Amino acid sequence: MTSLPIYNPVTAAIDAHHESQYTPWERDHLGCSQIGHKCDRYIWLKFRFALERTKEQIEDRVKTSKKRSSIRSHGQLLRLFRRGHMEEFTVREDLEAIGCVIDDERWVREHPRPGVSWNDKSQQIGVDLGKFLSGSVDGVIHSGLPGAPKTPHLLEVKTSGTAPFHEVRENGVREAKFQHFVQMQLYMHALGLKRALYLVVCKETDELYAERVEYDREIALAFIARGHWLAALNRVPDYPEWASASWWECKMCEGWKQCWGGETTDQRNCRTCVNVFPDVDNRRFMCRLNGNEATGLCDEYEKRFDL
Ligand code: SF4
Ligand code: SF4
Repeated sequence: MTSLPIYNPVTAAIDAHHESQYTPWERDHLGCSQIGHKCDRYIWLKFRFALERTKEQIEDRVKTSKKRSSIRSHGQLLRLFRRGHMEEFTVREDLEAIGCVIDDERWVREHPRPGVSWNDKSQQIGVDLGKFLSGSVDGVIHSGLPGAPKTPHLLEVKTSGTAPFHEVRENGVREAKFQHFVQMQLYMHALGLKRALYLVVCKETDELYAERVEYDREIALAFIARGHWLAALNRVPDYPEWASASWWECKMCEGWKQCWGGETTDQRNCRTCVNVFPDVDNRRFMCRLNGNEATGLCDEYEKRFDL
């Protein structure tokens, strides 16, 4: 009997479908989910649209990335992101089933705060911490959380591979996933909440990890300040002391080619142009040449010398 190929036309067609639906996008703000990243340079390069972002470049990176050796196609990566997103709904249903009250739109209506809004399109709470720094919240548990039924909690849901899941289970979110820890601090700060529920689902086994996290005002303010500083900075930040061409976090980073490989960015857009500068208070980039908001590439484009 002829053996059938493992990666057959069915799976290839599904992945191709997802790839055909994909439109490259770049978040125009500085995300609360990113601001706890270890490297200033990475956050800045990403914010300035200087890293790979076309469909072909992303596909190329998927093929060559050591980190994603089990990812065979861009379509598979897109399905993986979709799974992470869908898990939020499943977790919310489970929490409601055990008595948690979750109604994000009502929360915003009943607890108005500056910078907090309800986004009808995405059906999420949006937080704006000023100067490009913003994000979207997974949810707020009004009451009913076992162990602390009267205390409102921010809800942050993550999916995880097995190894990082074990790490967070053993060491807690602050030590194992500092970026997530910071993200929750910023959301709690914006929403005026004192507690968060961090809930992780292991994708392989469906094991759950739940941790209650306390609000830390000092951390929140320090990272809000970091976000505002990076948004306003009009040069590439210095290399972190720990960084090197052979350091594992650099080797896995999208910025490696530019930081260590002697390459310059090939991303032609206003944010990589020498004529642009950030107008952080109005959350926009301006063009020095024409005095207008820099929203599109023009013939005067000139790549920044430090990119
Ligand atoms: S390669 Fe290293 S130094 Fe460069 S952006 Fe990435 S983590 Fe930072
Ligand atoms: S409008 Fe033209 S010159 Fe101005 S920032 Fe954009 S690409 Fe550069």
